Amino acid sequence: MVPGVRLVVLGKQGAGKGTQCVRLSHHYVVPHISTGDMLRAAVKTGSALGVKVKETMDRGELLGDDIIMEMVADRLSEPDARARGFILDGCPRTTHQAEVVAALLLPGALDLTVDIEVPTAQVLRRLAGRRVCTDCGTNYSVTTPPKVNWMCDICGGEVIQRQDDTEDAIRRRLDLYERQTAPLIDWYESRQQLAKVSGTGSPDSVLRRVIRAIEERRGRGQGR
Ligand code: AMP
Repeated sequence: MVPGVRLVVLGKQGAGKGTQCVRLSHHYVVPHISTGDMLRAAVKTGSALGVKVKETMDRGELLGDDIIMEMVADRLSEPDARARGFILDGCPRTTHQAEVVAALLLPGALDLTVDIEVPTAQVLRRLAGRRVCTDCGTNYSVTTPPKVNWMCDICGGEVIQRQDDTEDAIRRRLDLYERQTAPLIDWYESRQQLAKVSGTGSPDSVLRRVIRAIEERRGRGQGR
Protein backbone atom coordinates (compact mmCIF):
# COMPACT_ATOMS: atom_id res chain seq x y z
CA MET A 1 0.00 0.00 0.00
CA VAL A 2 1.20 3.54 -0.78
CA PRO A 3 2.09 5.23 2.52
CA GLY A 4 0.30 8.54 3.23
CA VAL A 5 2.06 11.64 4.51
CA ARG A 6 1.44 14.60 6.82
CA LEU A 7 3.17 17.54 5.25
CA VAL A 8 3.26 21.35 5.51
CA VAL A 9 4.60 23.13 2.42
CA LEU A 10 6.06 26.63 2.73
CA GLY A 11 7.39 28.95 0.03
CA LYS A 12 6.95 32.45 -1.33
CA GLN A 13 4.08 33.16 -3.67
CA GLY A 14 5.23 31.95 -7.07
CA ALA A 15 7.67 29.37 -5.68
CA GLY A 16 5.64 26.63 -7.34
CA LYS A 17 4.01 25.45 -4.11
CA GLY A 18 0.57 24.87 -5.68
CA THR A 19 1.99 22.82 -8.55
CA GLN A 20 4.13 20.70 -6.24
CA CYS A 21 1.32 20.19 -3.74
CA VAL A 22 -1.00 18.82 -6.44
CA ARG A 23 1.72 16.39 -7.55
CA LEU A 24 2.55 15.39 -3.99
CA SER A 25 -1.11 14.76 -3.21
CA HIS A 26 -1.30 12.35 -6.18
CA HIS A 27 1.99 10.67 -5.24
CA TYR A 28 1.02 10.03 -1.61
CA VAL A 29 -2.76 9.75 -2.26
CA VAL A 30 -3.65 12.36 0.35
CA PRO A 31 -5.84 15.49 0.07
CA HIS A 32 -4.23 18.76 -1.00
CA ILE A 33 -5.55 21.24 1.55
CA SER A 34 -4.98 24.72 0.15
CA THR A 35 -6.51 27.54 2.20
CA GLY A 36 -6.20 29.89 -0.81
CA ASP A 37 -8.12 27.44 -3.06
CA MET A 38 -10.80 26.90 -0.39
CA LEU A 39 -11.25 30.66 0.01
CA ARG A 40 -11.33 31.30 -3.74
CA ALA A 41 -14.01 28.58 -4.05
CA ALA A 42 -16.03 30.36 -1.32
CA VAL A 43 -15.69 33.69 -3.18
CA LYS A 44 -16.79 32.06 -6.42
CA THR A 45 -19.94 30.50 -4.94
CA GLY A 46 -20.78 33.80 -3.25
CA SER A 47 -21.18 32.12 0.17
CA ALA A 48 -21.28 34.28 3.31
CA LEU A 49 -17.62 33.40 3.91
CA GLY A 50 -16.75 34.36 0.32
CA VAL A 51 -18.42 37.76 0.58
CA LYS A 52 -16.62 38.41 3.86
CA VAL A 53 -13.12 37.57 2.59
CA LYS A 54 -13.11 38.83 -1.02
CA GLU A 55 -11.88 42.39 -0.47
CA THR A 56 -9.07 41.39 1.87
CA MET A 57 -7.93 38.70 -0.54
CA ASP A 58 -8.00 41.04 -3.54
CA ARG A 59 -5.79 43.48 -1.64
CA GLY A 60 -3.30 40.66 -1.00
CA GLU A 61 -3.68 40.95 2.78
CA LEU A 62 -3.96 38.13 5.29
CA LEU A 63 -7.31 37.12 6.78
CA GLY A 64 -7.85 36.72 10.50
CA ASP A 65 -6.51 33.57 12.14
CA ASP A 66 -9.96 32.57 13.46
CA ILE A 67 -11.56 32.19 10.01
CA ILE A 68 -8.59 30.27 8.67
CA MET A 69 -8.05 27.99 11.63
CA GLU A 70 -11.71 26.99 11.83
CA MET A 71 -11.63 26.11 8.13
CA VAL A 72 -8.40 24.09 8.48
CA ALA A 73 -9.52 22.32 11.68
CA ASP A 74 -12.74 21.22 9.93
CA ARG A 75 -10.87 19.95 6.89
CA LEU A 76 -8.22 18.10 8.89
CA SER A 77 -10.95 16.30 10.83
CA GLU A 78 -12.44 14.76 7.67
CA PRO A 79 -11.97 11.00 7.18
CA ASP A 80 -9.48 11.18 4.26
CA ALA A 81 -7.11 13.49 6.14
CA ARG A 82 -7.43 11.50 9.35
CA ALA A 83 -6.79 8.19 7.64
CA ARG A 84 -3.98 9.02 5.22
CA GLY A 85 -2.72 12.52 5.95
CA PHE A 86 -2.59 15.77 4.02
CA ILE A 87 -0.53 18.28 2.09
CA LEU A 88 -1.15 21.61 3.83
CA ASP A 89 -0.59 24.55 1.49
CA GLY A 90 -0.99 28.23 2.42
CA CYS A 91 -1.38 27.55 6.13
CA PRO A 92 0.27 28.17 8.53
CA ARG A 93 1.15 31.73 7.47
CA THR A 94 2.03 33.05 10.95
CA THR A 95 3.66 31.51 14.00
CA HIS A 96 0.30 31.68 15.77
CA GLN A 97 -1.25 29.59 12.99
CA ALA A 98 1.69 27.15 13.25
CA GLU A 99 0.99 26.73 16.95
CA VAL A 100 -2.69 26.05 16.26
CA VAL A 101 -1.86 23.52 13.52
CA ALA A 102 0.57 21.76 15.90
CA ALA A 103 -2.15 21.61 18.56
CA LEU A 104 -4.62 20.11 16.07
CA LEU A 105 -2.27 17.19 15.31
CA LEU A 106 -1.14 14.40 17.59
CA PRO A 107 2.43 14.88 18.87
CA GLY A 108 4.91 13.66 16.24
CA ALA A 109 2.17 13.31 13.62
CA LEU A 110 3.68 15.86 11.23
CA ASP A 111 6.18 14.09 8.97
CA LEU A 112 7.89 17.23 7.72
CA THR A 113 7.64 20.88 6.69
CA VAL A 114 9.19 21.57 3.30
CA ASP A 115 10.31 25.06 2.35
CA ILE A 116 10.50 25.47 -1.43
CA GLU A 117 13.18 28.09 -2.05
CA VAL A 118 13.20 30.32 -5.14
CA PRO A 119 14.98 33.70 -5.47
CA THR A 120 12.63 36.72 -5.30
CA ALA A 121 13.55 37.99 -8.79
CA GLN A 122 12.43 34.66 -10.21
CA VAL A 123 9.10 34.53 -8.32
CA LEU A 124 8.30 38.07 -9.47
CA ARG A 125 8.72 36.95 -13.08
CA ARG A 126 6.64 33.83 -12.51
CA LEU A 127 3.80 35.68 -10.75
CA ALA A 128 3.44 38.31 -13.46
CA GLY A 129 2.91 35.53 -16.04
CA ARG A 130 0.84 33.20 -13.86
CA ARG A 131 -2.69 32.21 -14.95
CA VAL A 132 -5.05 29.93 -13.03
CA CYS A 133 -8.21 27.90 -13.69
CA THR A 134 -11.17 29.48 -11.89
CA ASP A 135 -12.79 26.06 -11.45
CA CYS A 136 -10.11 23.55 -10.40
CA GLY A 137 -7.19 25.84 -9.53
CA THR A 138 -4.73 24.31 -12.03
CA ASN A 139 -1.84 26.69 -12.68
CA TYR A 140 -0.73 27.82 -16.14
CA SER A 141 1.39 30.71 -17.38
CA VAL A 142 1.61 32.94 -20.42
CA THR A 143 4.45 30.71 -21.64
CA THR A 144 2.63 27.42 -20.84
CA PRO A 145 -1.06 28.22 -21.55
CA PRO A 146 -3.84 25.61 -21.81
CA LYS A 147 -4.09 23.93 -25.23
CA VAL A 148 -7.35 25.61 -26.32
CA ASN A 149 -8.37 29.25 -25.92
CA TRP A 150 -7.65 29.71 -22.19
CA MET A 151 -9.89 26.79 -21.26
CA CYS A 152 -8.45 24.49 -18.61
CA ASP A 153 -6.95 21.25 -20.04
CA ILE A 154 -8.15 19.34 -16.99
CA CYS A 155 -11.72 20.56 -16.38
CA GLY A 156 -12.57 23.02 -19.20
CA GLY A 157 -12.91 25.94 -16.74
CA GLU A 158 -11.93 29.50 -17.57
CA VAL A 159 -8.21 30.27 -17.10
CA ILE A 160 -7.53 33.84 -15.94
CA GLN A 161 -5.03 36.05 -14.10
CA ARG A 162 -5.70 36.04 -10.34
CA GLN A 163 -7.12 39.29 -8.90
CA ASP A 164 -4.21 39.35 -6.44
CA ASP A 165 -1.54 38.79 -9.09
CA THR A 166 -1.44 42.52 -9.92
CA GLU A 167 1.86 44.31 -9.36
CA ASP A 168 0.67 46.12 -6.22
CA ALA A 169 -0.88 43.06 -4.60
CA ILE A 170 2.14 40.91 -5.48
CA ARG A 171 4.46 43.40 -3.77
CA ARG A 172 2.21 43.46 -0.68
CA ARG A 173 2.02 39.65 -0.52
CA LEU A 174 5.78 39.19 -0.84
CA ASP A 175 6.35 41.83 1.84
CA LEU A 176 3.88 40.06 4.15
CA TYR A 177 5.62 36.79 3.42
CA GLU A 178 8.97 38.19 4.54
CA ARG A 179 7.51 39.74 7.69
CA GLN A 180 5.01 37.10 8.81
CA THR A 181 5.66 33.80 7.09
CA ALA A 182 9.47 33.66 6.73
CA PRO A 183 9.84 33.46 10.59
CA LEU A 184 8.02 30.12 10.35
CA ILE A 185 11.09 28.67 8.71
CA ASP A 186 13.05 29.22 11.96
CA TRP A 187 10.04 28.05 13.98
CA TYR A 188 9.96 24.65 12.21
CA GLU A 189 13.76 24.43 11.99
CA SER A 190 14.13 24.84 15.76
CA ARG A 191 11.73 21.89 16.15
CA GLN A 192 13.77 19.76 13.69
CA GLN A 193 10.75 19.59 11.38
CA LEU A 194 12.12 21.49 8.38
CA ALA A 195 13.72 20.54 5.06
CA LYS A 196 14.78 23.24 2.59
CA VAL A 197 14.44 22.26 -1.05
CA SER A 198 15.47 24.27 -4.10
CA GLY A 199 12.44 25.22 -6.21
CA THR A 200 14.42 26.09 -9.33
CA GLY A 201 14.45 23.82 -12.38
CA SER A 202 11.66 21.77 -13.89
CA PRO A 203 8.57 20.81 -11.82
CA ASP A 204 9.63 17.14 -12.15
CA SER A 205 13.07 17.79 -10.68
CA VAL A 206 11.62 19.85 -7.80
CA LEU A 207 9.12 17.05 -7.07
CA ARG A 208 11.93 14.48 -6.96
CA ARG A 209 13.85 16.67 -4.48
CA VAL A 210 10.80 17.07 -2.23
CA ILE A 211 10.03 13.33 -2.24
CA ARG A 212 13.68 12.56 -1.47
CA ALA A 213 13.60 14.96 1.50
CA ILE A 214 10.42 13.29 2.84
CA GLU A 215 11.75 9.76 2.40
CA GLU A 216 15.11 10.65 3.98
CA ARG A 217 13.26 12.04 6.96
CA ARG A 218 11.12 8.94 7.28
CA GLY A 219 14.20 6.71 6.96
CA ARG A 220 15.83 8.59 9.85
CA GLY A 221 12.62 8.33 11.90
CA GLN A 222 12.59 4.55 11.48
CA GLY A 223 16.21 4.31 12.63
CA ARG A 224 15.39 6.00 15.95
P1 AMP B 1 -2.78 31.89 -1.50
O1 AMP B 1 -3.50 31.25 -2.67
O2 AMP B 1 -2.25 30.86 -0.54
O3 AMP B 1 -1.75 32.89 -1.94
O4 AMP B 1 -3.89 32.70 -0.68
C1 AMP B 1 -4.64 33.74 -1.28
C2 AMP B 1 -5.14 34.69 -0.21
O5 AMP B 1 -6.00 33.99 0.71
C3 AMP B 1 -4.07 35.31 0.69
O6 AMP B 1 -3.45 36.46 0.09
C4 AMP B 1 -4.90 35.68 1.92
O7 AMP B 1 -5.72 36.82 1.68
C5 AMP B 1 -5.83 34.48 2.04
N1 AMP B 1 -5.21 33.39 2.84
C6 AMP B 1 -4.91 32.12 2.43
N2 AMP B 1 -4.38 31.40 3.41
C7 AMP B 1 -4.32 32.21 4.50
C8 AMP B 1 -3.83 32.04 5.84
N3 AMP B 1 -3.30 30.87 6.25
N4 AMP B 1 -3.93 33.09 6.69
C9 AMP B 1 -4.48 34.27 6.28
N5 AMP B 1 -4.92 34.51 5.05
C10 AMP B 1 -4.87 33.49 4.14
